[in-house]
Amino acid sequence: MHHPLRLHCDRAALLSNYRRLQDLAGARTGAAIKANAYGLGAADVARCLAEVGCRDFFVSTWWEAAELSFLPADSLAVLHGFGPQDEPLEGVRPVLISPAQIALWKASGRAYQPCDVMVDTGMNRLGLSMADLGAVEGLNVHTLHSHLACADEEHAMNGAQLTRFREVSGLVPAKRYSLANSAGIHLGRDYSFDLVRPGLALYGGIPSPEARGSIRRVAFPQAQVLQLRNVEPGDSVGYNATFVAPRIMRVAVLNVGYADGYWRSLAKGGSARHQGIELPIIGLISMDLIALDATLARDLGEGDWVDLDFDLEQKSAASGLSQYELLTGLGRRWQRSWF
Ligand SMILES: *Cc1c(COP(=O)(O)O)cnc(C)c1O
Repeated sequence: MHHPLRLHCDRAALLSNYRRLQDLAGARTGAAIKANAYGLGAADVARCLAEVGCRDFFVSTWWEAAELSFLPADSLAVLHGFGPQDEPLEGVRPVLISPAQIALWKASGRAYQPCDVMVDTGMNRLGLSMADLGAVEGLNVHTLHSHLACADEEHAMNGAQLTRFREVSGLVPAKRYSLANSAGIHLGRDYSFDLVRPGLALYGGIPSPEARGSIRRVAFPQAQVLQLRNVEPGDSVGYNATFVAPRIMRVAVLNVGYADGYWRSLAKGGSARHQGIELPIIGLISMDLIALDATLARDLGEGDWVDLDFDLEQKSAASGLSQYELLTGLGRRWQRSWF
């Protein structure tokens, strides 16, 4: 079946970002592939990275882990841990987050099996509080994790969490210790410990200014022109007639919209390109359609493909959406292909 939306994904860029992060961290480098690898396709990303030696993959739920059964089980860990409704997969490690989860894991007769543990060092999201560290007694802890709250900015929390994590690593024996996400890797090697867990920067997101110029774009959305039309001065385009043509214009309507994660807030200053010519978005973005000013693109025809503007850092700054939201929003209708 023909897909009128394509998400071109650049394999070389993904691998280059992986190696870049690995070099920067100077430590073993895993990959957060939760949320379908931030929208790019978890199975494809995992296969690409596994080929270059990545052996640590992180998903949020067991359901996500079950879809990746081609990976060696012991290379997968489930960040949300092990709850009463979960059925663990043989060899896949839960990242246990609370005394209740630890008790459940032990009660299920698995205390001797390797597990990971998340410790909260100040974010107050998931993880054992410092006061609850005693709960790990009797567990076979493979990797002990914590997660940084403010790694993408200069913030006193970073140093404070680092100090607390060092303290934890002295108290809880584990094979490996892991603290840094993409932004954390850019804080320096003090944050690397034994394993780093990037997500965003693998997929072309810019977690901190230092990553500019070294992290490459991975995702390139393209859509097809469904209809071309001429409008007269004073004619309006789209819902609520928010755009009124100031002159004779040629309008191209694309087969993509906010249902595909091309959100309404991307319209302002947004554009597409065809053979180097910029085609500004006009009017409101609809659920499945976007109108472009294609007056200058004389060669553009119905059925032609255009490249949608998807510079994550710029689009994020312009829309107020995070780079994470922009990537993870890319929906099911995109045909993802790796080249
Ligand atoms: C999602 C996640 C990561 C990856 O974070 P990025 O900011 O995308 O690099 C790392 N660790 C944990 C615990 C996560 O939940």
